[in-house]
Amino acid sequence: MTSAQEKKIRQTGCDARFDNLTRQLYSTDASIYQIRPVGAAFPKTAEQASLVIHATADAGISVTPRGAGTSLVGNAIGEGLIVDFSRHNRQITGLELEKRSVRVGAGVVLDQLNDFLKPHGFGFGPDVATSSRATLGGMIANNSSGARCPIYGTTADHVISLEIVLADGRIVTVGEADSFPSNRAASVEHERQQILKIVREHSAEMAERWPPGLIKRWPGYGIERFLRAPNDLTNILGGSEGTLAAIFSAELKISPLPHEKGLGLIFFASIAEAMQATVELLDLKPAAIEHIDRPLFNGTKGQLQFQAARDLLELESKPCESILIVEFYDDSRNDVASAVAEKLSILQSRKLGLRTKILTDPAQMNMVWSVRKSGLSLLTGCIGPAKPVAFIEDAAVRPAQLPEYVRGLQSIMKPLGLTASYYGHAASGLLHVRPVLDMHSAADLKKFRHVADETSALVRQFKGSLSAEHGVGIARTEYMRDQLGNQLLEVMREIKRAFDPKNVFNPGKIFEVGTSRCDVRTPQRGVPTTIDNHLRENFTRPLELPFQPVLAFAFKDRSFTGNLEQCNGCGGCLKQSGIMCPTFIATHDEVMSTRGRANIIRAALEGRLSRNGPEGFRGRNMTAGKPSLLGDPLKSAELDAALSNCLSCKGCTPECPSNVNLALLKAEMLHARWRRDGLPLRERILSNVDLLGKLGCLLPRLTNQLLGSKLARIAMEKAIGISARRSLPHYASERFDKWFRRHCTASVSDATNKEGRSPDRPGGYKPPLLWNRGPVILWDDTFVRYHEPHIGIAAVKVLEALGFEVALVKHRRCCGRPAFSQGNLDAAAKLAKHNIDLLSSRGAPGGHALPIIFLEPSCWSMFVEDYRELKIENAENIAARCFLFEKFVADLLAKEPEALRFKDESRSREILIHPHCHAKSILNPAFMATLAERLPGRKATVLDTACCGMAGAFGALAEKYDLSLLVAQRLLDQIDNQRRTVSGSAADTEVIASGTSCRHQISDLTDKHPTHMAELLAEAIA
Ligand SMILES: Cc1cc2nc3c(=O)[nH]c(=O)nc-3n(C[C@H](O)[C@H](O)[C@H](O)COP(=O)(O)OP(=O)(O)OC[C@H]3O[C@@H](n4cnc5c(N)ncnc54)[C@H](O)[C@@H]3O)c2cc1C
Ligand code: SF4
Ligand code: SF4
Repeated sequence: MTSAQEKKIRQTGCDARFDNLTRQLYSTDASIYQIRPVGAAFPKTAEQASLVIHATADAGISVTPRGAGTSLVGNAIGEGLIVDFSRHNRQITGLELEKRSVRVGAGVVLDQLNDFLKPHGFGFGPDVATSSRATLGGMIANNSSGARCPIYGTTADHVISLEIVLADGRIVTVGEADSFPSNRAASVEHERQQILKIVREHSAEMAERWPPGLIKRWPGYGIERFLRAPNDLTNILGGSEGTLAAIFSAELKISPLPHEKGLGLIFFASIAEAMQATVELLDLKPAAIEHIDRPLFNGTKGQLQFQAARDLLELESKPCESILIVEFYDDSRNDVASAVAEKLSILQSRKLGLRTKILTDPAQMNMVWSVRKSGLSLLTGCIGPAKPVAFIEDAAVRPAQLPEYVRGLQSIMKPLGLTASYYGHAASGLLHVRPVLDMHSAADLKKFRHVADETSALVRQFKGSLSAEHGVGIARTEYMRDQLGNQLLEVMREIKRAFDPKNVFNPGKIFEVGTSRCDVRTPQRGVPTTIDNHLRENFTRPLELPFQPVLAFAFKDRSFTGNLEQCNGCGGCLKQSGIMCPTFIATHDEVMSTRGRANIIRAALEGRLSRNGPEGFRGRNMTAGKPSLLGDPLKSAELDAALSNCLSCKGCTPECPSNVNLALLKAEMLHARWRRDGLPLRERILSNVDLLGKLGCLLPRLTNQLLGSKLARIAMEKAIGISARRSLPHYASERFDKWFRRHCTASVSDATNKEGRSPDRPGGYKPPLLWNRGPVILWDDTFVRYHEPHIGIAAVKVLEALGFEVALVKHRRCCGRPAFSQGNLDAAAKLAKHNIDLLSSRGAPGGHALPIIFLEPSCWSMFVEDYRELKIENAENIAARCFLFEKFVADLLAKEPEALRFKDESRSREILIHPHCHAKSILNPAFMATLAERLPGRKATVLDTACCGMAGAFGALAEKYDLSLLVAQRLLDQIDNQRRTVSGSAADTEVIASGTSCRHQISDLTDKHPTHMAELLAEAIA
């Protein structure tokens, strides 16, 4: 890419980036392939898209349109300019209920559209498993479809018209209807006629190659659909994989939501029985029959978010090899309930498989669907370098052919000693088969090719479709001649020439063109599109770490590289809900996603980052075919852009289906750097907030005054980058541990010395006469001890009212969370060892079994997770004794509701709970609402929030302040909405937040002063 070419593209006014960070971020999608583009552009309007595409083509550079990059076949990557439609084009307009249509920008995400349509009783039919991030542009271009294909068909069946941008910059609307000005379509009338002619000439060939009965799509352009509706070029564009034009917006058909749904689950002893049963169920006309097998549901083991589903399916107590999920819909509105119920009862009466389970409760049905939808990622999340690889995973046959087709596939795998999962859309004759291969191994790469070749032949034998869902991309282009035959392939080429005569759009995909017309100096130019070219670099050149990792990655992979390579690009972290990933939710920027961060760490370790930051990149040196390291793998502007914005919130740990743990990966990378280069002053200070607390509490008034002064704050911002715009936590006039000693004198070592207890309690509070439940340890964390002793006091009151004898741990040190977050792992490990030794050696009554109660979730998660990550001896035993305060109390009250008596409340009060992200990453926070609702007159809602954006010290850093506010916006909106809609009156709502930084963020940004659950309970005790 020359500077003249770059200038030309920049002059269009469209946001276009050519820096190395962007290029690396867009080098991969969800496939096994990797191609570095020259840059990426982010058009906001059709005009901008037109200008940028035209200028790029004019500069001799190819264009690859892109949505969320969840495609599995490598068609969302390319050597030229990536035009990302997902960032800005998210507008939904023109809803016409009578016409049953809606207009969407290409970047609208399927879940976003369905959320918009739901209140109107409508939805979009095709249901891809990636609905949380897949864009409508990507769905149309891939002609995607999902489980309900038998009733809804594919995405192309739901397109009314498309606003497209051609390579010469023309903006054209195509479609069947006269819903757009004819002049916008007229300009492609010539192309339409040309295509019609050639398609008609080859109708016999199509009939021969593609006999009826296939439910999903055929590979390549939709010529068979176009033959049926020759006025409508959307049929050609649907499934064209960005090789003909860019889609800017679309008018879509919408479907009424089903009035009634029901699920029949059938459990089998073998896959073969399940396949046979599928054929036997087709007469019931189910909306979907989905198959899941043991490798898939085994992937849910030990995963918090799937535990309820595992229990529902009774996978432990009643094992099976495979399950059919049979769904029935009825939207006829007449006698609907009985229609679904009738079909479910017929299904049950057929007595298929080992057992049957019927579900009609929406929450339970969703639980089962969530397992199915996470299928791919659950499989690829397995431990070790061998993973189920997606390359033959969307071949389809007619449903009745399934049993024989599966036997054929098994006979390909068996001689090679390969195992595979066979899950997916049984009712549509499509199984996502993913052989388990180690793509780093030459032997397995040979098997990879062998299986691909044989499967292509098998599919031909069944006259099926080799790419019935995900597109042709890089993964199947090589087989298109076999699949289509020379004549149909030539028809496709003709169509390409008609639309895109200069081969600007996504070259090398669908056709064996093999070369792109990209800048001559692009290193990958000329590499043909075969299944084993363009593989991700870490497959062909194993990652070498320039440091010795120190963390255990205990939850799963037991290795840094193993966890990093878990990221398969599926894009789950681009969703707009849940707790992963708050920085992406706030910005829609790829580098702010877990995927972006994992990709950049990989790029750093592969030597693909620049020495002098993004602008310093000059291309990669090739020495004897081996790329030489350009940048420092531990230190570069790109790495900093990716890692420094990660909140270490742990949202990805449970929600990434492959359990990529960015908080740990980031900590390791930082630690390696600090070990080599020394710990900077700011990180040193922030690692030691406990010491700061101790110092601050020596002269709290003076310290608070000093820290409140504007001058001091400006100086702090200049010296160590702590934002002057942030309030700082106040130091308490009396430390909690001092209060505790004065009022309770019940530290662990004194626990048996009952004489030492003081009967005087503040506020007239009297301890119970009988501590009949024995002692518990309350962990007086840094924040409670030095800044918020009232929370500790409240917790003591609650625990004592429950009958516990509360003790603190003398000589405890900071849990190490602040040091861990800074990557100061040596310091964190020292603190951890001290605390674990201390707790292990206490000879308190009850010995080592004393429960340890935590008020601050980030300290609790340090004990229950990260001490193990730091490989601290006995950490596991101590972890088993650690409880979050709320959970401890909630569990006790669940068993003994009368254990606490609360005052009657005349006024009804609305409790809004924002759980800490570290707590949510380990526990389902729903119990917090149940706990709060034990208080008379309280109605509680757990807010649908992720990290608050404060994330320890993150939100206090001058350069992160703005991002912190952006991340907080979701929480603020939730509080606002709930206050307005639920209670109607702000005075009646109370916000509960268990994390100190969350309380700080909410106090800073709203008029609310959130409290800890301990305070809420203590105040209500009768
Ligand atoms: C875990 C997982 C599960 C999946 N499940 C399904 C499934 O159930 N059903 C299914 O069909 N697919 C599935 N897929 C594949 C993929 O999610 C879908 O194909 C999805 O529709 C792609 O959308 P996207 O926005 O990510 O598109 P991208 O991946 O960004 O792009 C896909 C193709 O569309 C082109 N494109 C994107 N936007 C435009 C545009 N505006 N104009 C022109 N061309 C464009 C690209 O060039 C590329 O060729 C799955 C993928 C994963 C990782
Ligand atoms: S981080 Fe996880 S969810 Fe995100 S792309 Fe990687 S594997 Fe998928
Ligand atoms: S730790 Fe939080 S911010 Fe960082 S990548 Fe994971 S989800 Fe995103």
